[in-house]
Amino acid sequence: MIPYGRQHIGDEEVAAVLEALKSNHITQGPRVPEFEVALAQKVNVRHALAVNSATSALHIACLALGLSEGGLLWTSPNSFVASPNVARLCGANVDFVDINPDTFNMCPLELERKLILAKSEGQLPDIVMPVHFGGESCNMKRIAALGKKYGFKIIEDASHAVGAKYAGIPVGSCRYSDATVYSFHPVKIITTAEGGMVFTNNDELATKMNLFRSHGVTRDKSLMTHASDGPWYYQQVELGLNYRLTELQAALGIEQLKRLDEFLAKRHKIAGVYDSAFSDSPFRAQERLKDNYSALHLYIIRLDDTYSKADRAVLFKYMRDAGIGVNVLYIPIHTQPYYAAQGFQSGDCPNSVDYYERCLALPMYPDLTTEQQLYVIETLQNGVLSLRT
Ligand SMILES: *Cc1c(COP(=O)(O)O)cnc(C)c1O
Repeated sequence: MIPYGRQHIGDEEVAAVLEALKSNHITQGPRVPEFEVALAQKVNVRHALAVNSATSALHIACLALGLSEGGLLWTSPNSFVASPNVARLCGANVDFVDINPDTFNMCPLELERKLILAKSEGQLPDIVMPVHFGGESCNMKRIAALGKKYGFKIIEDASHAVGAKYAGIPVGSCRYSDATVYSFHPVKIITTAEGGMVFTNNDELATKMNLFRSHGVTRDKSLMTHASDGPWYYQQVELGLNYRLTELQAALGIEQLKRLDEFLAKRHKIAGVYDSAFSDSPFRAQERLKDNYSALHLYIIRLDDTYSKADRAVLFKYMRDAGIGVNVLYIPIHTQPYYAAQGFQSGDCPNSVDYYERCLALPMYPDLTTEQQLYVIETLQNGVLSLRT
């Protein structure tokens, strides 16, 4: 089966992980801060904190921004369930802002419409979490302007957008947000097996997230309530978790980061081949804006409106039967039983449902060969033709 996504692990990664394994510190050693500094420099941001998953990163960002019971976070329904779940774990409520039918990202017009209504009802969100779906950045200038006007904080869920650029600046620089999160799950752009990173330019937020990452415990005298008892002393000043990344994972991450630009170039080459093969088709790919540089985590096509949900199911089976591991991303989160039980209706975000019923993720990863890709293209074209006969 040709999968829809897959990691590339080279000999350098294997050697680096082995070396870390044989070193004195297999957790909390020098590699984690080395990985953090390298990524902070890459995205041009003040603080980078490595954690054991993007979910953990989103969670400590919400905690550090003070999200708690009675709070409210808005995100995109076209995301992985982790995006809203972290707000629920903080005891807050969530709501969803529908997507734009071309970019598949949170629609800024819809966001504004919803904000005007929420203001009149006195229920403005504390945090808005745009998700850079497929690696293509949301319209951050617009969202940040609305953040100023309506007084909400912004966490970018850039799990898909590792190495991407928005209007020429790196996603992760937090120019238009309070914090930005990367994922290093194997199916994403670079991997640490499990892992994530949270970026911020806000010193106070970084200090808080650092506490939440590790039990709320500190050895920093400036954060203690009284003088230290001695060199062994630490204080717990917050209620935190253990969300730390290991040295083995950081070693893997450091090597993967060296390949990031090459990975992205390969993804763009593959996307270019798909784009030109599909230029005259009854489906279209996710829109990528000229000013942006997508990380192209996913290459998603969407059948036009003359096709039904059933057609997509037939096409999915056709591709899978041909040994092509196409996928469907994402099931609109507000339709998941957990969220439906809180009163969300399918029709609350119609664009995301419409998108879900007609979308298909094609294989997209650096090691996809030209031969494999041509097979995917030919099979897809035959599959789409077969829907009309
Ligand atoms: C993968 C993903 C996450 C969670 O990432 P983990 O590192 O697996 O915790 C969160 N949000 C989005 C949009 C994702 O794709």
